[in-house]
Amino acid sequence: MAPQIETICVQGGYRPKNGEPRQLPIYQSTTWKFDTSEHMGKLFDLEEAGYFYTRLQNPTNDAVAAKIAEMEGGSAGMLTSSGQAANFFAMFNICGCGDHIVSSSEIYGGTYNLIAHTMARMGIESTFVAPNASEEEIDAAFKPNTKCVFGETIANPALSVLDIELFAKVAHKHGVPLIVDNTFPTPVNCRPIEWGADIVTHSTTKYMDGHGAGVGGCIVDSGKFDWMAHADKFPGLTTPDESYHGVVYAEKFGLGGAFITKATAQLMRDFGSIQSPQNAFLLNMGLESLHLRIAAHSQNGLGMARHLSEHPKVA
Ligand SMILES: *Cc1c(COP(=O)(O)O)cnc(C)c1O
Repeated sequence: MAPQIETICVQGGYRPKNGEPRQLPIYQSTTWKFDTSEHMGKLFDLEEAGYFYTRLQNPTNDAVAAKIAEMEGGSAGMLTSSGQAANFFAMFNICGCGDHIVSSSEIYGGTYNLIAHTMARMGIESTFVAPNASEEEIDAAFKPNTKCVFGETIANPALSVLDIELFAKVAHKHGVPLIVDNTFPTPVNCRPIEWGADIVTHSTTKYMDGHGAGVGGCIVDSGKFDWMAHADKFPGLTTPDESYHGVVYAEKFGLGGAFITKATAQLMRDFGSIQSPQNAFLLNMGLESLHLRIAAHSQNGLGMARHLSEHPKVA
């Protein structure tokens, strides 16, 4: 039986062996030490898995990303320095100049500005549709150069709920993935991958951290979207990456690993929005109580809704 979400909140991502520290260690190190430059070369060429420089990967961050991936039911995850970086990386990993994004119109203001203004300056167009749009309305937003669909499970601040199943259905009909920002419900209340989403993002700054201690973000890949089946749309994943010794991510890392490996090897390498290991440790501490806090938030919300619905001055 798969572990329950409560167990993953506490135990996921880090399983110490006999005699190892019970709490996740903070690897506060920029670099790793190697006996030979050949070993380091293999890591650099992605021929061997391992750590050498924290801008690319760090064991503390990886353990926390693995915990969130496990909570979401995904195949792989990565931490970013903020939720903004997570959403930008998730979209820019498969979109470039000349491409187009379909997005829900009710999303976080920062993400709206990112898509409508900043990514537009990079030559990426967008069309916005209401989160409760009909199948025909979503269909009509697509163009031949559309590369992904974006939405928020529960929008910040509109609190509208995305019809994930419908948006996923239309995205898949057009051969592109659905990216869902799951910041508000967290995987305790909703796991978008179970409803058809392909990639899930988070601002871990909010409920996941839970203590107002650290800004952070996370991307989780479902490992279900078949890039090779739509190879012409996603050349970045299906043709050689000249900036990384000609590696073809979808071939070398498969369904479960291609998206996150590309985002790490290319985008983290070039944009460098890594989360500090210290913040990843604090985020992990927050995640250990997420299932308890989200249950309490939900009780409070229900109590408030009941009170207001019976209040004579509230329509
Ligand atoms: C806060 C928020 C973001 C941005 O995250 P930061 O961690 O502040 O960069 C993105 N999406 C949603 C839904 C948010 O609430």
